[in-house]
Amino acid sequence: MQIINSIVHMQALAIAPERGGRRITFVPTMGFLHEGHASLLREGRTRGDVLVLSIFVNPIQFGKNEDLDRYPRDMERDCQLADACGVDIVFIPTVAEMYPQGFQTGVTVRDIALPLCGASRPGHFDGVATVVAKLFNIVRPDVALFGCKDYQQLAVIRTMTADLNMPVEIVGMPIVREADGVAMSSRNAYLSASERQSALCLIQAIKRARGLYAAGERSTSVLIREARAVIEQETAAVVDYVECRNGETLHESDLADGGTLLALAVKIGQTRLIDNTVFGEEL
Ligand code: AMP
Repeated sequence: MQIINSIVHMQALAIAPERGGRRITFVPTMGFLHEGHASLLREGRTRGDVLVLSIFVNPIQFGKNEDLDRYPRDMERDCQLADACGVDIVFIPTVAEMYPQGFQTGVTVRDIALPLCGASRPGHFDGVATVVAKLFNIVRPDVALFGCKDYQQLAVIRTMTADLNMPVEIVGMPIVREADGVAMSSRNAYLSASERQSALCLIQAIKRARGLYAAGERSTSVLIREARAVIEQETAAVVDYVECRNGETLHESDLADGGTLLALAVKIGQTRLIDNTVFGEEL
């Protein structure tokens, strides 16, 4: 496994003539890897010849009062896990090289980036789209894998690659959960033992809404109200949003169907967690 820090070095490998017909698969991350990331890497391994993992805590996708400075990092452990998943190249660029003085270009995806996390975190998806566009130009992947855990992010990336005719196949992967149902996230590392217990309210809310949907409830306002009520019973939890949206367009609708997304963002103490489900899909 090769570890590369320099952009020109990474790009040179990606466009080298000796690449031949070899397919590059790519998993972009912010590091502090867990089983969710590993599932993307293992799938990526099967879909191409050269598997590239990037680790970059992207400053421009964090708001002023967000957790950029304390975002968890452990490069050594990440590289061990990457190696075990069959990664060929770990690309770890520096902030100074990604955003040199004079950097002034951004990618904005409009409608689909506006609701949900786009509303709670202004500018967040501009930062995500911009860094992913840069990484695609550096790594030149044939296939890139993203988790459905960040459902809106995946939708934004799909829209960007289609709109800008980027020659990359985007693959969405199911949410990997802990044994008790809590979605795996690097940010779970922030939670104290009691907060970790409180974080169960997200999956409980999802299960409550899914149960009602399975029993025939189709009113999105009822599904939202009931999911919200589960979270509000947890004293340590503060709802950022609980919403039902069309799973493709992210438009609101009054009636749920199999393609409807239930998306949640909840603060547990200082930690903001997100989770989601699509009613017609398995949990
Ligand atoms: P992050 O390092 O949090 O930016 O995540 C990097 C990639 O891993 C993104 O495509 C995420 O959606 C994906 N990911 C994070 N957590 C999970 C999870 N629990 N299950 C599946 N994919 C995940």
